[in-house]
Amino acid sequence: MNKFIPVSEPTITEKEIEYVLQAVKSGWVSSLGEFITKFEEKFAKYVGTRYALTTSNGTTALHLALVSLGIKEGDEVIVPDLTFIATANAVAYTGAKPVFADIDPETWCIDPDDIKKKITSKTKAIIPVHLYGHPADMDPIMEIAEKYGLFVIEDCAEAHGAEYKGKKVGSIGHCGVFSFYGNKIITTGEGGIITTNDEKLYEKAKFLRDHAMSKDKRYWHTEVGYNYRMTNIQAALGLAQFERIDEIIQKKIQIFTWYKEYLGDIPEIKLNPEKEWAKNVFWMVCLLNEKFNEEKRDEFIKKLKENGIDTRPFFYPCSMMPTYKKDGFINPISYEIYKKGINLPSGYNLTREVVRWICQEIKTTLKYI
Ligand SMILES: *Cc1c(COP(=O)(O)O)cnc(C)c1O
Repeated sequence: MNKFIPVSEPTITEKEIEYVLQAVKSGWVSSLGEFITKFEEKFAKYVGTRYALTTSNGTTALHLALVSLGIKEGDEVIVPDLTFIATANAVAYTGAKPVFADIDPETWCIDPDDIKKKITSKTKAIIPVHLYGHPADMDPIMEIAEKYGLFVIEDCAEAHGAEYKGKKVGSIGHCGVFSFYGNKIITTGEGGIITTNDEKLYEKAKFLRDHAMSKDKRYWHTEVGYNYRMTNIQAALGLAQFERIDEIIQKKIQIFTWYKEYLGDIPEIKLNPEKEWAKNVFWMVCLLNEKFNEEKRDEFIKKLKENGIDTRPFFYPCSMMPTYKKDGFINPISYEIYKKGINLPSGYNLTREVVRWICQEIKTTLKYI
């Protein structure tokens, strides 16, 4: 096979093209229009919340949720160390400090016991991340939040449709935040959404999203707001994708099942977890190799790339970044696991044959590492 297999690619059908054309032709190309309303209504219903509010991307959705909850300078927000940097950066934008908790070695999501250790008198919120499509263990997190009076913002950017004990992620915390970036489970190109049952939070976020303009007095602004709106064109793409979400998730699960079938019997390898209380949507198929260190991992990635197979390393722990680094600080599990993990091609268009071929290449390459 002489082809490049990407880690992910969006799936665009006639439906997406048709809806986007409709939006463009209607003239409603900016942030008003019926696709926005429809997309928000349907997404809220799907997640099981009363409200959903679209935004320009997942990072602005996180920032908007934080400021709407009153998070500000001097506060602390606990986030998992192993996540995409946007989770921590959104906290930093508010002036608050992201505090990095370690992850659970099995789910790779934030460890509730470590959250407890990182709480101080300044802690105001927790942002659990449902990493790579697997939900974080929400019950103990909600218990801690209740005990200490903290907000919980679920970062669902990688987990549309994932379930915790039968409940969709994004409906468990005070709010959920999703991303519709091009490589996410469904896409709007760039885009995001906040889901919540809290009317006050929804109204506040909606207000701040649109420059904090007074409802009764046009061009009157009592606070510093933002322009964090999604366009109707993006929402048209989003609605088409949303109408296919069950099929897309089904395919994700199928792809994982194929990998499991072909790689499941290699002793040093672990693939994505799925706890008995979880529905994993397998945003990215993950391979964890006990024998990897950073050097071996990078060599493995390079060799696969030479054969046309695109992979990605796991995220580096946020607390390793120059901007967040503190001398002597480590989270032992995060600092161990990130070196051993990579994401395998997980795009919608994969077939069983291609996955089988990728797995053969993986097996051959492992012998040389
Ligand atoms: C993608 C992602 C985001 C940010 O979403 P954007 O739409 O790219 O801004 C936030 N958190 C996590 C965990 C992500 O994977």
